[in-house]
Amino acid sequence: MSITRHNWTKEDILEIYNKPLMELLYDAATIHREHHDPNTVQVSTLLSIKTGGCPEDCGYCPQAARYHTNIEGNDLMSVQQVKAQALRAKSSGSSRVCMGAAWRNVKDGEEFDQVLEMVRTINKLDMEVCCTLGMITENQAQRLAEAGLYAYNHNLDSSEEYYKEVISTRGYEDRLETIDNVRKTNVTVCSGGIIGMGENIEDRAGMLVALSTLNPQPESVPINALVAVEGTPLEDQQPVSIWEMIRMVATTRIVMPETQVRLSAGRTEMTREGQAMCFFAGANSIFAGDKLLTTPNPDVDADMEMFKLLGLNPQKPFIKKMQPQTVEAQDSQYQALGEKPKWSRPEHTIERNEVAKQQAKALK
Ligand code: SF4
Repeated sequence: MSITRHNWTKEDILEIYNKPLMELLYDAATIHREHHDPNTVQVSTLLSIKTGGCPEDCGYCPQAARYHTNIEGNDLMSVQQVKAQALRAKSSGSSRVCMGAAWRNVKDGEEFDQVLEMVRTINKLDMEVCCTLGMITENQAQRLAEAGLYAYNHNLDSSEEYYKEVISTRGYEDRLETIDNVRKTNVTVCSGGIIGMGENIEDRAGMLVALSTLNPQPESVPINALVAVEGTPLEDQQPVSIWEMIRMVATTRIVMPETQVRLSAGRTEMTREGQAMCFFAGANSIFAGDKLLTTPNPDVDADMEMFKLLGLNPQKPFIKKMQPQTVEAQDSQYQALGEKPKWSRPEHTIERNEVAKQQAKALK
């Protein structure tokens, strides 16, 4: 049985990533079978509970207010709307609901209270609840934990070096601090990244070093292929090939044997054969639904057909960890402190982000 190591170096990881493909696949599939049921894949549903208008400048994101994209923004959804969507997701095989809000950070107040109520509501439907709400403080993480949150997502996106080429409005250390705040609670950590943003293989390895040397390692690691959206600074990036995706998934599986590896954005560009190779290499989760926040995704029926074809079963909830207990708002032991996370304000500028911002201004 392979053990979980926390001392991976970039050289170790590059050696794995660059192995002859058949060897890489064999090693990854062997480790996958030691730690997971190879015929079970978790189906998660990603809901954009508040879309667009974000003050950050992530170069890949159509929700950044400063770029001109065709997405329609919306205010925070109601608890009833979220409940209806979660029930629909559950009936089509999802065991996890991930709620995303285009916020830089969580602010204590009415909207956060509404999100806490969404968490309580979905946990009571016996589904794993995940949130991705931007930076959070320890107190905010504790309040989410008390409401019954199962996982918090905060991606590292890339290596520390390449991160500076994609985002200028906050630093890598801010990402790590939010992950650290989540770790102080019993909420599990979901953190991964995106390939195809113009980074090199060393950057991909660098991101895996940052994730795999966390102790404990994230329970969940999404691997996304960039979906280049018109109007964003990365609109002209060429799609990554399926072979790069397979190598990335396999390497992630080898360095983080117990983690749930999530085949995330970019699946519409992948064939079923390509996705099957990713499952063989250790991916054991997909996002279902025809949209992933704002970008296209295969529809649920097509995914269920693929599962049937491959003999895969959707994973039941709470297989890896017990369901958290929900504490009602009136019984909470944590008060809103009216605080917001402090973050570094890096001073560098990224030329392609500035160009996209100027083009958006000209179009207004
Ligand atoms: S990725 Fe998140 S933080 Fe970055 S611009 Fe988009 S919504 Fe904002």
